[in-house]
Amino acid sequence: MEKLIYLDNNATTCVDEKVIEEMLPFFKTEYANPSSMYEFAKPAGRALKEARVKIRDLFNAANEKEIIFTSCGSESANQAIRGVLNMNKNKRHIITTKVEHPAVLNLYQALEKQGYSVDYIGVNSNGELDLEQLASSINSDTALVSVMYANNETGVIYPIEKISEIIKTKNPNTKFFVDGVQAAGKIPIDVQQLGVDLMGISGHKFHAPKGVGALYINSKTVITPLIIGGHQERGLRAGTENVPFIVGMGKAAELAIDNLKYEMTEVKRLRDKLEANILKNVFNARLNTGVANRVPNTTNIGFEYIEGELILLHLSDLGICASSGSACTSGSLEPSHVLRAMGVPFTAIHGSIRFSLSKFTTESEIDYVTASLPAIVDKLTNLSPFQTELEALRNLKK
Ligand code: PLP
Repeated sequence: MEKLIYLDNNATTCVDEKVIEEMLPFFKTEYANPSSMYEFAKPAGRALKEARVKIRDLFNAANEKEIIFTSCGSESANQAIRGVLNMNKNKRHIITTKVEHPAVLNLYQALEKQGYSVDYIGVNSNGELDLEQLASSINSDTALVSVMYANNETGVIYPIEKISEIIKTKNPNTKFFVDGVQAAGKIPIDVQQLGVDLMGISGHKFHAPKGVGALYINSKTVITPLIIGGHQERGLRAGTENVPFIVGMGKAAELAIDNLKYEMTEVKRLRDKLEANILKNVFNARLNTGVANRVPNTTNIGFEYIEGELILLHLSDLGICASSGSACTSGSLEPSHVLRAMGVPFTAIHGSIRFSLSKFTTESEIDYVTASLPAIVDKLTNLSPFQTELEALRNLKK
């Protein structure tokens, strides 16, 4: 492909060259099993330790012993959720949100079939959580509250610290799991200040390879392992560690911490520029999140009365990658469960596009997308069967 403008960084990110460089020796020369006793295994063992410290720092956890490595964000979530529930088998009530990623949501649906009672907390039209509903749902049988840190489709950030305070006053025995996959590398994370018990992340969302993740487990939280076998990860995750990928994720965490200021100023500036220009130049565009607090790299815009998939195909012809929902749901024409929970009008829900930037996104890329999009939307708008409604909207925006 001649031109590639990658604005789908919430689906996955490119692996940073510096991460690849850090990983290479562990494929080529330092390939020993990190648990082995001989001298040759020392560099692999050391590298694993160093990576754990770097991931500890990304979470701002008190101790690296609170970190275990996993294969992905989905495994981190499954391990946290099942691990907590298995330790408290007499408690059968769970609270989560309507807008979680399928990695979490589908697990809760499976647990409901096994007899758990799950409350799904709703959001308002900006995508913000109904904290009153959450607070009133907590009872003495609540084993777990599970809320994502940032939403993958909208970028909306949830008030984790406030939620942890609510849990502690309502039922201090309830455990709190946070899916932090879309927060890592985008906003500072401080598990101690947030007061969470468990938080999962995934390497491929912050420029490490796909297939590696981590789970923070507060030292006061005891869970059962999902994968039983060898003694790795303090008996919590059996299987020889994927040293090169873990080393890569450690490096990516270090780079992500260093990059946070840039993310929150420059990446945000480019996102805001893209968003403002689209909203200014396209009469049937609406910002789906309104004034909600969001991660700096994400915007979700609805184009009324046209199909998002058609916009994506036209963007793709120009080498521009975006998404019409989360990566896992695109491919199906079911409207996004997140936008539905927000009550995005049906006229816009099918035409909603997520643009997600990264530290590698350039100003000229944003300018190119800004310049190309109005013509695409114009063409599709002219083909839309909703001409009367579009005319009314055009007049309203004049
Ligand atoms: N949670 C959120 C919020 C996500 O965005 C994703 C991936 O898109 C996941 C969990 C799953 O992560 P992984 O693909 O590493 O399993």
